[in-house]
Amino acid sequence: MQDFDEVIGCFANYDPQALPVKDAQQIIRRLITPLDAMETVPLKSALDRILACEIVSPIDVPAHDNSAMDGYAFRGADLLTNEETELAIIGTSYAGHPYNGVVGNGECVAIMTGAVMPEGCDTVVPQELTQATHTQIRIPVDVIQPGANRRFKGEDLRQGQVALCKGKILRPADLGLLASLGVAKVPVNRRLRVAFFSTGDELRSVGETLAPGCVYDSNRYTLHGMLTRLGCDVIDLGVVRDDPDALKAALRQACENVDAIVTSGGVSVGAADYTRQVIAELGQVAFWKINMRPGRPLAFGHIDSNGHRATLFGLPGNPVAVMISFYFFARDALLRMMGAQVMPLPLLRVPSSTAIRKKPGRTEYQRAKLSVDSHGRPVVAITGAQGSGILRSMSEADCIIVLDHDSGDVAAGDDVSVIQFEGLL
Ligand code: AMP
Ligand code: MG
Repeated sequence: MQDFDEVIGCFANYDPQALPVKDAQQIIRRLITPLDAMETVPLKSALDRILACEIVSPIDVPAHDNSAMDGYAFRGADLLTNEETELAIIGTSYAGHPYNGVVGNGECVAIMTGAVMPEGCDTVVPQELTQATHTQIRIPVDVIQPGANRRFKGEDLRQGQVALCKGKILRPADLGLLASLGVAKVPVNRRLRVAFFSTGDELRSVGETLAPGCVYDSNRYTLHGMLTRLGCDVIDLGVVRDDPDALKAALRQACENVDAIVTSGGVSVGAADYTRQVIAELGQVAFWKINMRPGRPLAFGHIDSNGHRATLFGLPGNPVAVMISFYFFARDALLRMMGAQVMPLPLLRVPSSTAIRKKPGRTEYQRAKLSVDSHGRPVVAITGAQGSGILRSMSEADCIIVLDHDSGDVAAGDDVSVIQFEGLL
């Protein structure tokens, strides 16, 4: 990890009491160091894991020229341009059972999709474009060009070519690609270990009765979901009471067992003041007020205990604030710690069906839902009340509208930037 003060010193107008989202994201990014530990797992278990090194293709894929269609393979030069082409059928090439002879002029071989192209052939005419008997086919004029429907050896990947880059998060297509190269065991980074807990005397866990003035702890469940989806090994440390010794003990225990700790609550002004003190004693952590909504307070840094160091994300307590802070600060950082190549989140530009009030000078994240209007065009609409404690509008949302730092009010019909929650995975 780079030196904290050095990194912060690079930000000319650094003000922990009014930090723009972009600056907080950059400081975090610079202070993150990727894990350097890998393991080898069977191909199926590599799904959603992060590739620990580049994979170079050991073979040509496909290994032979082959047919893209069920039809007849022949020499393209035999095609006549002014009359039907007649060819004699001299054999069959099945997928897995090639035709081993040579195909001469005026001859063809029945061929199946994926079957090896017989020697001498460069063209396949699909079956449905021909008139065939048992012994010969006729191809009408102009239905096919020489060279059609032939897949070339190595057209997917050449031997020695980079098939997948280090840091790739392996999706279903990647498992298939690795299988096509014959790779059975995959080098992946070890999973990131992350502990999380909630803070607050008012919190009750599900299964407990709700005393007056108390609320159920929902953050541990959203955090469990978000961290698990990210591929972390999670340790749920439960609810920690608003008590300095309890907090210190929880942080110490976590620090000695994990790479990162995510907490919720206790970092806002007015929240139990001892938090900063306790955390400051254990390591180096900055307490920020970020120019954003929801999710203004955020603590970030690292703590040390018995020779172990863990990165700390102190997220706000409000249920939507914790999710937004996780997605826009912790997610990127945790992925980098895991050694993933992190791409910026894809932003769609979509018209908002309603007006949205927005103050310049802070980044706002609005819960919203995408749909299509009566002309079939995409539109986005916020999902009701946007209070930072209102989880229902988050649950109803399938995307977030990001209104950037400098922007002002949005009029109905204006394009806004949208990040979708889910896509094809
Ligand atoms: P805090 O940041 O600790 O001041 O909490 C801010 C608000 O979020 C308060 O209304 C808390 O009751 C609420 N809150 C904090 N932690 C949780 C949690 N784990 N689950 C649900 N609500 C919470
Ligand atoms: Mg609290």
